Order: sequence, then structure tokens, then C-alpha cells
Amino acid sequence: MQISPSASPGELLRLLRDGQARTRAELVTETGLARSTVRARLDSLVDAGLVTDRGNGASTGGRPASRFVFNARSRLVLAAEVGATHATVAVTDLAGEPLTTERLALDIADGPDAVLGLLTKTWRALVTPLGTPVAGVGIGLPGPVEHSTGRPTNPPIMPGWNGYDVPARVAADFDVPVLVDNEVNLMALGEHARCHPDEQHMMVVKVATGIGAGLISNGELHRGAVGAAGDLGHILAPGAGDAPCRCGNTGCLEAVASGPAVAARLSEAGIEATTSADVVALVQSGNPVAGQAVRQAGRDIGEVLAGCVSLFNPSLIVIGGSLSNAGEMLLAGVREAIYRRSLPLATEHLRIVPSQTADNAAMLGAAAMVVQHALSPVVLDRQLV
Ligand SMILES: [Zn+2]
Repeated sequence: MQISPSASPGELLRLLRDGQARTRAELVTETGLARSTVRARLDSLVDAGLVTDRGNGASTGGRPASRFVFNARSRLVLAAEVGATHATVAVTDLAGEPLTTERLALDIADGPDAVLGLLTKTWRALVTPLGTPVAGVGIGLPGPVEHSTGRPTNPPIMPGWNGYDVPARVAADFDVPVLVDNEVNLMALGEHARCHPDEQHMMVVKVATGIGAGLISNGELHRGAVGAAGDLGHILAPGAGDAPCRCGNTGCLEAVASGPAVAARLSEAGIEATTSADVVALVQSGNPVAGQAVRQAGRDIGEVLAGCVSLFNPSLIVIGGSLSNAGEMLLAGVREAIYRRSLPLATEHLRIVPSQTADNAAMLGAAAMVVQHALSPVVLDRQLV
């Protein structure tokens, strides 16, 4: 990787973040920078603890060259994924690797002060024994969030949270950058960072009580003009007829293909089900009606995704969320509709795969969001001056 001759310490660190140890000479060759520049940049990164000199056991008679490596343990990241009734709270290193994870029961309707107080108390207990500085906090919330301010915007299932200054509340306990986003965007960041780092254009679709998508475009999260990109659930679904949706409209994808919508269809057929988990249990027990209903939900989702494929041309679509635990049935329906409705060029190299991060995707994404921010050359260079 050639980087500009004026490359800053932050840009040099970006190279070292692949975890490979390098000598000064190797860095000079790899970057095209002057030897003196590499030495100065390394010095500031080593002083900050972000890079360590690993030494060298392989002396061949001359003085062994130092080998430098990214020190992911030099700072910690506090990450949380908050759901309606639980949260996954973690401390990770600067590679986004969880060092410790805890699952908490909570009620999002208790309001921001109670919920965020519980998170900060939990993080404090987890980080204090580690004695390492904290680089930042990342939080995923189950509703729309204005990412630039970290304030939820009319979240339907979060009474008391509308417009609340989440970063200010958390920064009262941890005086570091606090970044907030909705859980679907963070699922996309988490899947991308941990499982598909080389994909430039991908969609991560969550199928649960609601349906939403996170978009990675040119390797980065695409939030849209006001952070509303990826709201798949309220796109008109061709097969939805006039099914009423909780948004007040009719014919939305969510009204026919979400976990509760599939459960309602099964109930009408005399099979008791209320939630995504009920539907998944029925499918896993081999109930053929439930299997077909999930497959049809997959087709309905695929019909809408086919439009997204034509518009956005992703090379990867990841299907996650609680209804995706039903397994192959959902995925088969999605694939069927997308391949039927899309032009061959758009699907030639398109892969449609299940999520690999299970319940942790948004927590891992929250950590990845903080790492990206904390180690970005713009932020880092300011600190290292
Ligand atoms: Zn709707």
C-alpha cells in the first residue's frame, strides 16, 4: 500500500492495523516514506502505546532490527447493543475483539436515565479491574437515531427517549467520545468488520419484529441524508394487499413478512404462534405449514430486495434477525424471489448468506464504529500532536 509522502502517524497506523509486525525498513519500502519520517511517526505511535516494539529473536550476526506491531490492547472500547428487554454489554480491544461480555435484563420503557445508568455501571465494573484507558463508547438502540447527535428520533418502542442526549448522559460517567446508532446499521458494521471486511457493497437485512437493512457502500456505512436509509419494512410489498401496518399505512413488507405477521398468519390457520421465536420453534419441529409460511415471508422480502438489488447492486446480502433462525426456509424464499426478479448482470456475483454473528452483530458493530472513529487519522493525529 503506497501512502502519501506526508503520511501522518494515523495513516501509518492504518497500515499496521492488519496485525502484522514490520521492521522500519519494511515500512519504508511499503509506504515509500523517507526513513526519518517513518522513524518519527513510529516514535509518536510507540509513545502513545498504540504500537509496540516486539524486538527480534532472529539475529543473523548484526544488530537485530526492531519489529513494530499494532497494540490493540492499549485502549478499551465500551460497546452495547440495547434491545427492548435486554442488552448485550461488552468491553473490547481496539481490534473490536470482545474481552468480556455480559447480558443484562432491562426494560427500554424504563427510560434513558435508568437504562444508560445500568449500562455505565456495568461497564465501570468491567473496566476497572483491567486498568486500561477507554477510547470511546458505542451504543446500538432499537429505534431511529440521529447519528450526528446521538439522539433517538421518534422511536416507536422507546417511551421517554425521543430527542434525549444519549452521549451527554454517558459522557457524565466516561469522558470519551460516545457514538450512537440504530441496531440495524450496527449489525451491518459488525457483519462487515468481523466477517466480510473485503466486501465493498453489501446489505445486512434484519428480519424480526420489524424488518430493516443496513447498507455498506464503498466499504462504509451508508446512512443517507437523515439516517433513514435501509428502512425496508415500510416499502410497499407486491404481495401484501391491504394488510394494515403498525406505521399506519397498508401493504408494507413488515405487515406480511415480519415475525409477528407470520405468526398471525399461522394463528389464523389454527396454529398457535405470537412471536418470531414461536414461528422458529414450529419450523424447527418440522411443522410444514410454518415452514411454508416462512418461505413465503422470504419470497415477500426477496421481492422488495430485488428492487434494492437493481438500485444498489450489492455483491453480498446477509440475512439476520430472529426469524432467520428458522434457517434455510427463509433464505430459500429470499433467493428464489431475488433471482427471479433481478437482471442477470446484477445477480451474477451476488451472494445471499445467513448472518454469522448471531445475537452479537450490533454489539460488535458498536465496537467497530468506535474503533473506526478513534483510530481514524483525523482523530488520532490531533491527539498525537
Ligand atoms: Zn408500515
